[in-house]
Amino acid sequence: MSNKNKKSRSLVVYTLIIVLLFGALFALNTVSKNKEGENKTVAEAPSVSGQPIVGNQEAKVSVVEFGDYKCPSCKSWEQQIWPQLKKDYVDTGIATYSFINTLFHGEESQLAAEASEAIWKSNPEQFWNFHTALFAKQPDVNHDSVWVTADSLLEVARASVPGLDEEAFKQQSKSDEVAAKIAEDNQLVTKFNIRQTPTIMVNNIVIANPFDYEAIKQAIEQEAK
Ligand code: CA
Repeated sequence: MSNKNKKSRSLVVYTLIIVLLFGALFALNTVSKNKEGENKTVAEAPSVSGQPIVGNQEAKVSVVEFGDYKCPSCKSWEQQIWPQLKKDYVDTGIATYSFINTLFHGEESQLAAEASEAIWKSNPEQFWNFHTALFAKQPDVNHDSVWVTADSLLEVARASVPGLDEEAFKQQSKSDEVAAKIAEDNQLVTKFNIRQTPTIMVNNIVIANPFDYEAIKQAIEQEAK
């Protein structure tokens, strides 16, 4: 082989390598963009049968939060996004909203979830009062400190659920029935491969950024058609 031929062959090989590298970089970039920047559509919406739900149950759109009372971002979401969502789409009958316990913060997540399921069972009409009050109880600073205890949950329940039967609440929180509800939630978390809280789903659409209210709105409008 002549030197010239060797050179041009090397050139072809190098060019090919560069093209492949760029291709790989482009593919990687696209994958990470899909992961972080765009909503993802999955096969089906989560079943909300037996879950705390608010809104017109004939609505075509189901908004589901996978959330954790111990999670600071869930508190922010509850205070920043939920009031607007409620006003625009839940109070107007366009969408329902449900909350699924997602136990990402250990024992305290578990205790809070047990209390919430107990209230949903015994005083469903007061559930959202309790839900909001429990997030309000989460400290704004130092939220890693222990703040969910049997006592603090009872305190929140007393203040937010008029006519609460305190003994029944304590027993119900530790009942097999409540344990089964939490197991159901855990199954949904696994089934939908939930990795962060809050995760917001609009029917079968997983919203990439739960704090992007415009993205939530667009998904609801699309699903409401
Ligand atoms: Ca549940």
